[in-house]
Amino acid sequence: MTHNDPGMIEMSDDTRSLHSGVEMSTEVVRCDVAVVGAGQTGINALFVAGQYLSRDQKLVLIDSRKRGGGMWLDAYPYVRLHQPHRLFTAGNIKWTLDRARSYLATGNEVLDHLEHCLDVIRQQVRLEEFFGWTFDTHEEIDGIVRVRCSSEDGRHLVIETKRLIKAYGHRIVPNDPLTVSSKRVRSVSPNSWDMRGAEMRASDAPVWVIGGGKTGMDTADALITDYPEREVNLVAGSGTWFLSRERCFPAGARRWWSGTSITNIIREAALRFDGTNETDVDTWMRTRYGTWLTPHASNFRFAVLSEFENDRIAAGLNQVVMDYVVDAVDRNGATELVFRSGATKPIAPGSWIVNCTGYILQDHHPYEPYLSPGGAVLSIHTRSATLTIQSYMAYFMTHLLFLGKVGEIPLYELDMVDLAKKSTAAFHPTAISLSHYNAGLIADGVPARVLLDFGLDQDRWYPLPRRAANIARHALGRHRIHRDHHRRTLDTVRDRFDVRCGPLEIFSAGK
Ligand SMILES: Cc1cc2nc3c(=O)[nH]c(=O)nc-3n(C[C@H](O)[C@H](O)[C@H](O)COP(=O)(O)OP(=O)(O)OC[C@H]3O[C@@H](n4cnc5c(N)ncnc54)[C@H](O)[C@@H]3O)c2cc1C
Repeated sequence: MTHNDPGMIEMSDDTRSLHSGVEMSTEVVRCDVAVVGAGQTGINALFVAGQYLSRDQKLVLIDSRKRGGGMWLDAYPYVRLHQPHRLFTAGNIKWTLDRARSYLATGNEVLDHLEHCLDVIRQQVRLEEFFGWTFDTHEEIDGIVRVRCSSEDGRHLVIETKRLIKAYGHRIVPNDPLTVSSKRVRSVSPNSWDMRGAEMRASDAPVWVIGGGKTGMDTADALITDYPEREVNLVAGSGTWFLSRERCFPAGARRWWSGTSITNIIREAALRFDGTNETDVDTWMRTRYGTWLTPHASNFRFAVLSEFENDRIAAGLNQVVMDYVVDAVDRNGATELVFRSGATKPIAPGSWIVNCTGYILQDHHPYEPYLSPGGAVLSIHTRSATLTIQSYMAYFMTHLLFLGKVGEIPLYELDMVDLAKKSTAAFHPTAISLSHYNAGLIADGVPARVLLDFGLDQDRWYPLPRRAANIARHALGRHRIHRDHHRRTLDTVRDRFDVRCGPLEIFSAGK
């Protein structure tokens, strides 16, 4: 059952009740599990939760957007998956798209696939969906979680559930255009402005792409390809590097003999990192597996780019500026970009300023532990991260919740948002060590079928014989050998940067 229009809620009798302490007009829905967030993270949580429920138990899905798909609903139109499409899914749900294994799905194809995942889940479980509803608060009393939601038109809804999974992931919101003082430039956002639309096509003014991450690369590439005569410039901050698609996901028959799996890269990086040598680890990883086009590149956000695309963008760019734009101003009859360093650069009047600054790790919400003290609320977000990728976290942590193990395995949590603010350089080696350490603990705590059904595993790019060594390594318990090293590394990061990085307090209290 889907409630797309908050004004039109109709409850089935078994879900409607009035609760003391709740305003008389507020509808109360009862369920066994409620999931907040219908992006890839929430859909993975739903997929897993559904496996532990019987047909008469009920799942509820809440999302403030009007349908499932999360950030893909408002991504720029030329967005494509970084990784081969089959590796982006919920659980083990297969794509219905009939394309080559290496095909990079478009944003609309990703949305279709996520909708297909929801359809598969709808067929397997009793799912009641509340789109257009925003989760506001929850309280956990005597094993029941009372969730309060509201709609844009001011209506309220209470959900009483035995378990709540807050799966908002990165809480990505679309970029607005940059606010600038100049009246002579056109400041736009790729999320709301069509780079291939009539106005852009009709103009011959230079374009300044602000931001050197994946959105910046995609935008520069789209502009260079669509308007080969146009002057396209990039302001790249401190520079971003990407995992090379050719080296991590070699296409065609080459996946039988070339390339390195993400697991192997992560294992080796985690072994090299000791909590103090982030620059060395970054250099090692970047020069071996990376691709970038700026003179320096110190940011890495686990995105993938092909070397071919990288070279095409590099060849098509007019200028690359390694700084951060703070304003565009009209001064003495000229227009200038003003940078954080204090430098300025004259630009042509009428230039386009395209905001491609980051979306990831911008979450300003307060810290919340991944598991509530009462044990009924699981929160999948970046301030209490246990794995680097939020959808992986949703998949495994939901399994641990239902297996009754999430409060038993002393996973390390990391406040990624705080660390990224304090040290760009230490961020990704730490996230890698965290993921590697926790993944080993999780793998020891879940049945084999949980690992077998994990369709998001990027190593599945490679044929089974090439994965055999890692499977044997796991079976022989060799992933446990370096645990002390990883713990020491993470403790060092915690002490150096004064960030939350360690087991949840419930584990420390139990010692
Ligand atoms: C431009 C861009 C390109 C990317 N490309 C890739 C890629 O190619 N491959 C890849 O693996 N990853 C990619 N990512 C990372 C991407 O964010 C994840 O892969 C994934 O799709 C995000 O899913 P999510 O569910 O974590 O977050 P989202 O998709 O943001 O979904 C979170 C959902 O929670 C809802 N929500 C949040 N707060 C509330 C609330 N209080 N009440 C109700 N609902 C709420 C939101 O409305 C949203 O629908 C990309 C990210 C960006 C920004």
